[in-house]
Amino acid sequence: MGHVLAQDGLIEAAIIHNKTGTSAIKAGIFIDATSDADLTYHAGGQFEKGGDEGELQPGTMCFVLNNLNRQQFMAEEERYGSDLKHAINKAKVEGTLKVARDWAGISWINDHTAGFNFGHIFGIDGSNTDDLTRGAMEGRTLVHHITEWLKATIPGFEHAFLAQTGEQVGIRETRRIIGDYILTADDFMECRTFPDDIARNAYFIDIHMAKPTSGMTMVHLAPGESHGIPYRSLLPIGIENVIVAGKSISTDRATQGSTRVMPNCFAMGEAAGTAAAILAAKGSRLTRNIDIELLQRTLVAQGAWLGEAYVTV
Ligand SMILES: Cc1cc2nc3c(=O)[nH]c(=O)nc-3n(C[C@H](O)[C@H](O)[C@H](O)COP(=O)(O)OP(=O)(O)OC[C@H]3O[C@@H](n4cnc5c(N)ncnc54)[C@H](O)[C@@H]3O)c2cc1C
Repeated sequence: MGHVLAQDGLIEAAIIHNKTGTSAIKAGIFIDATSDADLTYHAGGQFEKGGDEGELQPGTMCFVLNNLNRQQFMAEEERYGSDLKHAINKAKVEGTLKVARDWAGISWINDHTAGFNFGHIFGIDGSNTDDLTRGAMEGRTLVHHITEWLKATIPGFEHAFLAQTGEQVGIRETRRIIGDYILTADDFMECRTFPDDIARNAYFIDIHMAKPTSGMTMVHLAPGESHGIPYRSLLPIGIENVIVAGKSISTDRATQGSTRVMPNCFAMGEAAGTAAAILAAKGSRLTRNIDIELLQRTLVAQGAWLGEAYVTV
């Protein structure tokens, strides 16, 4: 393949392009944390992407507003909705706001500054460069439209100043590797534990609508419940020395709607790095050669939570 040097299921080097030019990075074991499993893709890995009709969750261009008056907003929060739900629904009916979902995620940084996860960009495949460019352009246009609406509509936001947009459009869904084990919605619902768990997930299934007219899918586990994420789901079939960590691990589409969140990605990254270090220490390049109990013991010693059964491993 063009972007990796690979032979017999082993990646020898990743080809990178940067300011210095083109180089090859050689390694015994590679961790593919590109979120789209780019390295695995270029090495000939197998994938699924999106739903049955190729539908993908939308992206969002997040942004930060400054010069807000949090107290004033909170004083009238009920009227507008803490997530702006009431105000958005009214504006949608009146035609003054063009967003698909009646929800804005507002994260206050201080009393004058907040980050917004607000508005969707549809039809973007985040593993395609042209789509990413279009997503960035459409996203920034939408951010300006939303900012103007917030200034005109929401008490406390009249003097809002757009301080920052995301460097790129945020992408919720692209490729999922086909790994040694495909984690399923049934595993999620049954809160299954696996002998090779390297993390546990308790986040709800959160699949954002692929089209402006379709709905959100949300499925919660009961409080305190969780399921395991097995090491096998990080191993792409047919490739011997890559561990995938992040939102592109081997799951079905519904489960990806849950495992994609940041705490899981952190935990998978830690597990992937720890596994690679254990393998490197014994001179092995083969990810399936791992002593899984040693990996789990090491993760627990580092503070990972693998469930009650592993607390004293
Ligand atoms: C709008 C939005 C809101 C969200 N809200 C939440 C939330 O509230 N809570 C939550 O937990 N999760 C949330 N998520 C989900 C979560 O943020 C992501 O799924 C998660 O961060 C993905 O982590 P990752 O490690 O897979 O990839 P990333 O964190 O995206 O890291 C991938 C890295 O690899 C680099 N990279 C990619 N391709 C290449 C390449 N070919 N060569 C070199 N480098 C490359 C990228 O630049 C990036 O630095 C949200 C997602 C979106 C889009």
